[in-house]
Amino acid sequence: MTGQTSQGQEQGHVRIAIIGAGMGGVLMAIKLKEAGFTDLVILEKGDRVGGTWRENTYPGLHCDFPSHFYSYSFFQNPNWSRRFSPGPEIREYLESAAHVFGVHDAIRFNSKVVDGQWENDAWTITLDSGETLVADILITATGYLHVPNFPDIAGLESFAGAKFHTAQWDHSVPLADKRIGIIGTGSTATQLVAELAGKAAKLTVFQRTPQWVAQQDNPAYTEAEKQAFAADPSLLAKMYQDEKVEMVTLADGAILGGNADARAFLEGNVRDNLARVKDPELRRKLTPDYAPGCKRIVISPRFYEAIQDPGCELVTNRITAVEPSGVRTADGALHALDVLVIATGYDTQAYFRPLRLIGAGGQRIEDIWRERPVAFRTMTVPHMPNFFMVEGPFSPIGNVCAFLTAELQVAHIIKLIRIAAEQDVAIAPREDATAALLATYRDAARKTIWATGGCVSWYQDSEGVPTLYPFPNQTFEAEMTADPDLAEYVVTPRHAQVPA
Ligand code: NAP
Repeated sequence: MTGQTSQGQEQGHVRIAIIGAGMGGVLMAIKLKEAGFTDLVILEKGDRVGGTWRENTYPGLHCDFPSHFYSYSFFQNPNWSRRFSPGPEIREYLESAAHVFGVHDAIRFNSKVVDGQWENDAWTITLDSGETLVADILITATGYLHVPNFPDIAGLESFAGAKFHTAQWDHSVPLADKRIGIIGTGSTATQLVAELAGKAAKLTVFQRTPQWVAQQDNPAYTEAEKQAFAADPSLLAKMYQDEKVEMVTLADGAILGGNADARAFLEGNVRDNLARVKDPELRRKLTPDYAPGCKRIVISPRFYEAIQDPGCELVTNRITAVEPSGVRTADGALHALDVLVIATGYDTQAYFRPLRLIGAGGQRIEDIWRERPVAFRTMTVPHMPNFFMVEGPFSPIGNVCAFLTAELQVAHIIKLIRIAAEQDVAIAPREDATAALLATYRDAARKTIWATGGCVSWYQDSEGVPTLYPFPNQTFEAEMTADPDLAEYVVTPRHAQVPA
């Protein structure tokens, strides 16, 4: 029965604010709308849809997950140009999803959220313009790769040429015939090297730690294939399913170790690929001393070919300083450069921060996360009522496609929002339930290859424990599809009921 809350709202009606119009935020809005929650706004700091696929525009940007699986399961695209599509196509796909499912109008662009405070049983949200909004439900879909990590290298600011992080590419800087330096050899840097080798006057790649690189061809889809996909949606559904089975089997089996054949396949692939490097000294420099899969595997059809280009130099001496004219290494050499590219990744423990969140009883996220980010079932945080995260801490990002993870989380979050709306309550996970569950996650995470494989990576927190879901995809699916057990939550009535 419909009544009125003390604030005059219709019971069951909630105002929802989502932060971020990337893959997760657009999905959250689509599914909320389908579930009947229509009073929603997406607050987006940028001027377009796309999240990381908007921020990143570096040359060679593409996705190393197969495109039909790296998609919403309910919105298949017949027009992907390749098995692994270029970044701009993914951004356009997300934009098109926002339009097709009618949530684009709910996005407020250029609206950076700086503060969220739980007061008077709702979230007061402050934008960097100083404007405030009030929402009953706050959801962050900010991704985990959005705060660029700048290396702490002496003299970095003194470089006289053009210098930028890969997530802030300066397209006004000409690259042809320039001496370009790239710091880092992660997934981003390897895509860049593959693209720029042979085009620059010289490409100098500064490697701190070698990566295992899997060989993966990237064939283009023919027009006939695209037409067949468009004509028969069951073909697209099959592509999604086949790629899902392939990726999940490989990731669960080879990375989490449940399948010796999958592990052997992965090991064989990366070692055979490395063997394609002809010069034994270069091969030695590129050979990791840790287990494949400890760091995120780099997937590249061309990295080793590119790094063997005569115009490419792999520098493995430690960087000691950046000087106005280039990069100095520990052997005393000065590597003269015109352009310096910082490909050193992201602060992956930031999650939605630097957004300041103050929850029930004035509890600050900075205090709750002082030791390390904590989350209950990857989506909620103690003392943060009616607050939900898509791709929060311990999400299965090291082994499962982010789209699949987000779809599962969004469905679970909507179950909790429905309870919050129908019962007019505030829901936050219990501290003891969170601590107990995290202890099981962290114990299991310590036994995964991400911790035991002998590497240091961005998967790990300050104690070296991977902040990733440590169990197979099936377990995650079961956890997400189960109905929430309210005994695990603090459920607090919100407004006093007044007669309608
Ligand atoms: P990353 O994997 O964190 O790699 C950063 C690189 O910078 C590493 O080689 C690292 O060396 C190096 N580095 C960091 N600090 C340094 C320092 N102070 N001095 C010298 N070298 C330093 O970052 P990323 O390549 O941007 O990739 C981040 C994530 O983005 C990936 O893991 C992936 O999840 C995602 N991504 C995905 C795709 C895709 O196709 N799906 C493409 C690009 C990126 P160490 O190894 O020694 O730390």
